[in-house]
Amino acid sequence: MRLITHNLLQCHVKNCNSNNFPLKIEDAQVELIEADYNPEFLVNMLPKIDWPVLVNTAKQLGLPEIPAQVPEDAENNEAFLQGLHSVLLETHIQQGRMICPGCGHVFNIKEGIPNMLLAEHEI
Ligand SMILES: [Zn+2]
Repeated sequence: MRLITHNLLQCHVKNCNSNNFPLKIEDAQVELIEADYNPEFLVNMLPKIDWPVLVNTAKQLGLPEIPAQVPEDAENNEAFLQGLHSVLLETHIQQGRMICPGCGHVFNIKEGIPNMLLAEHEI
């Protein structure tokens, strides 16, 4: 599971409508998997990313630091975009779990795939 997915993911358990983002990551095993660098994609994603969440997640997982704020020249800042590419698209959580801060639901991650399925009473 790439960090871009984590950054866009919220809990969807029934009646869990507040405090359901970000999911708290625990016991993560991280792997770097090379991906094609596409600066236009990154620039387009920037407004959709919850930046403070990404900064915290990178810190928690011990990844190379990303700036606390998006630089003003982000579109033309090659070093920034390369760093963002690595954190957002090449960093995969292979094992671990995500916990909803609101309802405490645990979403397990196995072999890089988060299990977002809910039991019937949670839908
Ligand atoms: Zn929840």
